[in-house]
Amino acid sequence: MLTINSIKNGIVIDHIKSSYGIKIFNYLQLDKADFSVALIMNAFSNKLGKKDIIKIENNIDIDLTMLGLIDPNITINIIESENIKRKLNLQLPKKVEGIIRCNNPRCITSVEKYIPHIFNLIDKEKGKYKCKYCDEIYGIMEE
Ligand SMILES: [Zn+2]
Repeated sequence: MLTINSIKNGIVIDHIKSSYGIKIFNYLQLDKADFSVALIMNAFSNKLGKKDIIKIENNIDIDLTMLGLIDPNITINIIESENIKRKLNLQLPKKVEGIIRCNNPRCITSVEKYIPHIFNLIDKEKGKYKCKYCDEIYGIMEE
């Protein structure tokens, strides 16, 4: 059994879908961190079978919208003095601005470059988003 020391103050990102840990690790640029970080891959999970966990010995700002898009089933534990101070359950954001781009060439966002790309969640189960300005559908689980 692999053991990693528990952290004093920081963040534990738990219940990451197996193989998504490295994506999130890179997205948060933890490879450049000057504090302690751990990426645990394929840990045992009752719920998921296998899961990834990231432990961060620091309080960093995390964009929850972006993280919710990468994997909505993640839990985030905020650790203070070795205790869980706060637990956040992520979910798919209802509205996403400036992350997903509309690929419809006839969409107003393709014509007018200054208009922000805004997508609204239309199907939570399937992870479907619809462009605010046209009928373009984007499925985040189809990658
Ligand atoms: Zn559009």
